[in-house]
Order: sequence, then C-alpha cells, then structure tokens
Amino acid sequence: MDESVYRKNLELQRKLDQLLKQARANEKKQELYEAVGFEIIGASTPKQLRELLLSQIITRFQLLDVVLCLVDHHKDTERMFFEHDEEARLHLDNKLLILDTQKDAELIQSLSITPILGADALKNYQWMIVNLRIRDQIKSAAFLPLVRSNRIIGALMLLSQDSHRYQANIGTLFLQKLSAMTAVAIENCLNQQRIKEISYQDVLTQAYNRRYFDLRFKDEIARCTRWDDDLICMFLDVDHFKKINDTYGHQTGDLVLRHMVGLIKEQVRSCDIVARYGGEEFVVALPSTNLTAAQEIAERLRHAINAFAIILYDKQLHISVSIGMASLRGLITAQHHDNDYICTALLDRADKALYEAKAGGRNRVSVFTALPEQ
Ligand code: GH3
Ligand code: MG
Ligand code: MG
Repeated sequence: MDESVYRKNLELQRKLDQLLKQARANEKKQELYEAVGFEIIGASTPKQLRELLLSQIITRFQLLDVVLCLVDHHKDTERMFFEHDEEARLHLDNKLLILDTQKDAELIQSLSITPILGADALKNYQWMIVNLRIRDQIKSAAFLPLVRSNRIIGALMLLSQDSHRYQANIGTLFLQKLSAMTAVAIENCLNQQRIKEISYQDVLTQAYNRRYFDLRFKDEIARCTRWDDDLICMFLDVDHFKKINDTYGHQTGDLVLRHMVGLIKEQVRSCDIVARYGGEEFVVALPSTNLTAAQEIAERLRHAINAFAIILYDKQLHISVSIGMASLRGLITAQHHDNDYICTALLDRADKALYEAKAGGRNRVSVFTALPEQ
C-alpha cells in the first residue's frame, strides 16, 4: 500500500477512536446526570433536597462546591428549608442564599434565564460565591437558572477546580436538563411542604393542631431522652371561658383564643411547640428546658396574658389562664418505658397539674408532684 494512504488510514483510525471514546464518555456523563436528576425529582422533603443539591452532587459530579440561591416568592423558603434545624442553617449559610423579592430585587433582576458557563458565570455572579471559604480554588463555574412557568425561582452554581470543566463554548444540554429537573423538584417539594403545614395548623388560631403536636412531641421526647435532656410539657386553659362566650359572644371568644396564641408565641422560643389541644386549651412543649426555667416562663406567660387588655367596643377585657406542667426528668425512672408510654404519661401529669391549678383558685401555675410511695 502507498505510504501516504497508509498514514491517512492510521490518522482516520486514530480520529475514529477518539470520537468513540468521546461518545462513550458522553454516554456515561448523560447516565450520571440522569440518575442524579431522577434522585432530585424524587426528593420528598426540603431537607432531602437540601442534602442532594448542596452536598451529594459535589461528590457525584466531582465538584469543588455548589451554591444554590432561591427567590423567596412566598416568604417561607427559609422556614421550609431550615425549620427546627438551626445547625444546618448555620452550616449552610453561605451555600443556600435566600433572596428577598424586595430587598434583593436587583440581584433577582440580574439572574440570567439561560445557563452561563465559564468566566462570565464567575464575573456576573460574584455575590453567589463571595462567602465561600474555598473561593480562591474555583477555576471554572456553571450558572444554571431555575425557571418554572417563565418565572425565575433561583439558580444553581456548580463550581470546579478544573479550568476546562465549564467553558463558554461547551454544550449545555445535560446541564439544562439538570436545572429543569431541579426547578420542578424545588417547586414540588415546597408545595408539598406547604400542604403539610396547612394540615398541621389550627384554622382559627394559626397554632399547630393536636395532630402535629402528637407527632413532634414524640420526636422531641425521643431526642431529649437520647441526649439526657429534660423536656417540659405545659397545659394552659383559659379561666371561665364559657362566661366570656356567654357574656360577649362567640366571636369575642374566638378573638381571645387568637390573642392567647400570639401571647404564648411571644414568650417561648421558636423550637418550642405551641399547639391548640382542644377548645380553649393549649399545650406547649419546651425541649431541653428544666423545671426551674419552665416555671419562670410559665409565670411570665401567666402575667403577660393577665396584663393584656382585649379592646372591645366600649370596654377592656382581661383574661386569665391556669397552667399545669410536668417534666420528663420527673417521669423517667430506673424502669424502662417506651416512647409512647412516656408521651401519654407526661401529658397526663401536666393535665393533672392543670386540674390542681384550677382547683387551687385559677390564674396560677401548678407543677406535677408525684405522690409519695406508699
Ligand atoms: P374553667 O375555668 O374551669 O376552665 O372554665 P371554662 O368556662 O373555661 O371551661 P368549660 O370547659 O366549662 O368551657 C369551655 C368553653 O369553651 C365551652 C365551649 O363552648 C368553648 N369553646 C370551645 N371551643 C371554642 C371555640 O373555638 N371558640 C369559642 N368562642 N368558644 C369555644
Ligand atoms: Mg377553661
Ligand atoms: Mg378547658
């Protein structure tokens, strides 16, 4: 064979091999992006989504880091992603940026609705990475907008140590698919969470309902038992509420209940659980709180409620509450009890203490004390 033909053949063979290698690598990449995309779509809680988007994709895609920003259209994004998880909130502070539609209007305006790869991603969206510890190691980035129904809901920034990883002229089909799936997942997850929250809420007072309380109470008891922490269960019952209804009408009674919840929430921490247990009776769980501290809280609460004046047309209405409480530590003995037993027994003890407060004259706090052993 002619030498030049032979060389050309060899050259063609080499090119073909290269193309095949490239095709196989792309296929693998596509498989990986699809697998991760389906996991993201499958996330059923904001916490799961948070884990996948801010931590797992770093290892799966071999990235340096990831930043997610979300436009807070419903003023609930932070709560949805971090409620009851202060540790995660602090830990992810610089990786999950929540944009206020008014305060951050300019930043939201600057979000491109098409992906941007390479130097421009870093230049245009410096504010997304400015608080990252590893920002000096970033060599290339992909800015992926998250869009739903023609509205921008946020952006995902993938960061790499490899300067060739994301370049302006590289195809973005995989990344576009990933960002579309992420946007759907975020919207679905937040909507599901909102529905859940509504079903856990008391319509009249916006406090949690009993269903939610029972679920969270069990969790908190398990957590406090594990960490050998105390927990206080407190019942609050409006004094002579029937008379308020009879004298001023049911509407005024409803107003009193709404004010009660506002006053209770003002006096407790965001990690405490405030729920309407029934009629004019409320229950509060105070995790990681001891009896002495809880007694102070209860007295403060009783005073605040008693001092508050509900303004009616021509007069002021003052109400009072009776409070009964019991502590987890007072209940746990050498005997091993299961979680369900502890929940029921603690509620029962707080209820008994409430009865004591009522019997003792109302507008007072009573702590459950076990009867001396016979
Ligand atoms: P005590 O000091 O012993 O607690 O007396 P009380 O009158 O507060 O207690 P009682 O259990 O006799 O009455 C509770 C009343 O609360 C009766 C019920 O009609 C009223 N109630 C229950 N749910 C609601 C509600 O959603 N709105 C209003 N306005 N009243 C309610
Ligand atoms: Mg009452
Ligand atoms: Mg009652």
